[in-house]
Amino acid sequence: MTSLTIRNLRKSYGALEVLRGINIEARPGEFVALVGPSGCGKSTLLSMIAGLESITSGDILIGDRVVNQVPPKDRDIAMVFQSYALYPTMTVQENITFGMESRKVPKAEQMQALARVAQLLQIEPLLKRRPAQLSGGQRQRVAMGRALVRDPALFLFDEPLSNLDAKLRVEMRSEIKKLHQRVGKTTIYVTHDQVEAMTLASRIAVMHKGELQQFAEPQTIYDRPDNKFVAGFMGAAP
Ligand code: ADP
Ligand code: MG
Repeated sequence: MTSLTIRNLRKSYGALEVLRGINIEARPGEFVALVGPSGCGKSTLLSMIAGLESITSGDILIGDRVVNQVPPKDRDIAMVFQSYALYPTMTVQENITFGMESRKVPKAEQMQALARVAQLLQIEPLLKRRPAQLSGGQRQRVAMGRALVRDPALFLFDEPLSNLDAKLRVEMRSEIKKLHQRVGKTTIYVTHDQVEAMTLASRIAVMHKGELQQFAEPQTIYDRPDNKFVAGFMGAAP
């Protein structure tokens, strides 16, 4: 298990300052939720952690290692996006092993990793199906399978449930919670759903217009919001 440290991180697109000095750290195995209104910089921050966006200034550390210049594939990270595209012509099994196949991981090792993930996500009966034969929740599970199969040190989720209907969202929320309890990987989970953040995370980072408003345990955020924005956004008493 590894920690993640975001140190005074800034991002500008030309004159537009999207992140204005963000400091967050996730302890080894911790589940941190990143919340804030649309456009506040959540996805940008996540992309920078994954190495998909360059850093304007500041540092990102995975464990003790500064990864500012490390390419995405060498960061030991897996990311699950909101719009998870599965390959429609491949079976569930092929979707999950595709990454290993292209990295030429030996077949036996692939099957071992597949079995572990299928059991974890309880998708064993679905392995031979194609995405069109799956429900929305099953597809989301397969998308998580693709991320899990790499056994990364760090998990990044970008609003993974926002395309699901309300009932399924609640179901998947508890799936994700159980999954985290079982695998215990350090996780950064972006959501604009306050309830999701409150139920899943051990600490919540509340962002607004590129600035971190508060970073604390759910109860603290709820009982003692640092400012009016946090109180209003989290629906807590001011
Ligand atoms: P969130 O995920 O919180 O909704 P984003 O990180 O997607 O917010 O976006 C934060 C801000 O950065 C927005 O104002 C968005 O328009 C801007 N932005 C994001 N990506 C780019 C880009 N590639 N070029 C210019 N502006 C961008
Ligand atoms: Mg976003």
